[in-house]
Amino acid sequence: MSTYPSKFSSEQLLEILNQAKTATAIHSTDEMIIETANDAMIAIWGKDKSIIGKPIETALPELVGQPFLGMLQSVLHTGETISGSDTMAELVIDGELRAFYFDFEYRAIKSSTGDVICVLHTATDVTDRYHSRMRELELESELQATNEELAAANEELAAANDAMMASNEELAATNEELAATNEELNQSQQNLLETNSELTRAEDTLRQAIDSAEMGTWSADLVSGMLTISNKSKQIHGIAENIEISLAQSLNLVAPEYIDRVQQAIQYAINTTQSFDVEYLINPMDGGKPKWLKSTGKAYYDSKGNAVSIAGTIIDITDLKAHDQQKDDFISIASHELKTPVTSLKAALQLLDRMKENISPQMLAKLIDQSNRSMEKISTLIEDLLNLSRMNEGQLKLNKTTFTIAHMLNQCCNHIRVDGKHELVLQGDEDLQVFADEHRIDQVVVNIVNNAVKYAPNSMQIFFTVEKAGDFARISIRDTGPGIVPEKLSHLFERYYRADATGYQNSGLGLGLFISAEIIKKHGGDIGVDSELGKGSTFWFTLPL
Ligand code: ADP
Repeated sequence: MSTYPSKFSSEQLLEILNQAKTATAIHSTDEMIIETANDAMIAIWGKDKSIIGKPIETALPELVGQPFLGMLQSVLHTGETISGSDTMAELVIDGELRAFYFDFEYRAIKSSTGDVICVLHTATDVTDRYHSRMRELELESELQATNEELAAANEELAAANDAMMASNEELAATNEELAATNEELNQSQQNLLETNSELTRAEDTLRQAIDSAEMGTWSADLVSGMLTISNKSKQIHGIAENIEISLAQSLNLVAPEYIDRVQQAIQYAINTTQSFDVEYLINPMDGGKPKWLKSTGKAYYDSKGNAVSIAGTIIDITDLKAHDQQKDDFISIASHELKTPVTSLKAALQLLDRMKENISPQMLAKLIDQSNRSMEKISTLIEDLLNLSRMNEGQLKLNKTTFTIAHMLNQCCNHIRVDGKHELVLQGDEDLQVFADEHRIDQVVVNIVNNAVKYAPNSMQIFFTVEKAGDFARISIRDTGPGIVPEKLSHLFERYYRADATGYQNSGLGLGLFISAEIIKKHGGDIGVDSELGKGSTFWFTLPL
């Protein structure tokens, strides 16, 4: 302590202390009597000046049980300063016990001899600072907690992310598999489509084949006896499109003499699993002419091996049968035709043989003539047969030259002139020339003239007319014979057609005009006939010039 004598009295010094901003008080004795306390300290305590001079326990009874009195006493006894910051003290302010925080110091004030005479108590209310620090700390810890939560959340997120990535990878793999499966599916679908269209195509081809073969189809349910037949089949059987018939009813259309044959064929197919093939005659339902049918079929079985249905095709072979018949007839006619001149030739030769030692010149001439005629007839027949087969094989070759028609007409048919029964009269353009196969055209003319001799024997004159008609030469051969009935005219040029088949007097193979027409058509010309019953016939043909 300074010994410097103060110019201020104790009261003045106290007054100065009283006005200091820092809360200050002085305590003495073990009871810590409040020797003095400035306004700032009084305000902290929430009391008034009446407490000065009172022991702390009396002035501030709320401090009982708090550590401050002990601390003050310790400073008084030890001389050691005690200080603290943010130290809580509970004080009664406005009748209410409240907590405040202080930075404080208890400092021992010593006499010159070193004895502690009092304790200087200074304090600063830091309650607000404390609270804001606390708030800060709280916020900090909240922040940390939040941060920790965030970190945890982040970790979870990362884990979730990892899981997601893994799922994503799985998804991608699944996607790839799906894409592959899809591709396979697409491929399968494509294959199916292709197979389908091939099947369609095949079905179309089959249908076309069936249609172009004029083929009908049918199928019979052997259990119900129901028959399903195509429109073509109905047409063949003369059944109206809107009418349905059973298998039994269809058998009723079969001509009685063929029913067994058809039933046996069906039974055969059922018993053997082989397909059947049968030809039979039917009487169509619409009352039309009997028809020849060729029917095929095959049975179908259930898993126990019972035949449940039978199906197949039907074609109308009436024309084919007629054609076969025509061929048979033709063979018999051809044989007969050949037989006559062969018999005649044979007879002439036998006579010659028998009379060879002693034969008159007249008889010899007659027999040679007979042989020649027979030979000629045989040659003509053979020529016709050869021409027919050549034409059937499409092998008719033309050897064209330029020749004068009238000249050709004068040369041909000498046998007629020699006979002297008919006069051949040539009319028209005698200089007209054509470029054609002279030998074949000669053959056509001979055919027509021979027919005139054969079918119009009383026509004394046979007229040849040559004329130019546009770019064509037109040659007509007219007789004044019996003529031909109109309904037969259009058939004359058909193969094997003979307008009057009664008797063999005027017999022929029915080939002459057919062969002639083929020759003319091959030249690019036309052939035809005009005829009036009782007046005669004019056969004509044209040739391009
Ligand atoms: P073919 O004389 O061998 O019977 P063709 O084809 O030469 O065969 O003649 C067909 C048919 O045309 C003859 O069967 C005959 O009935 C008829 N015909 C041909 N020419 C005449 C004609 N000038 N007058 C009447 N009928 C004819």
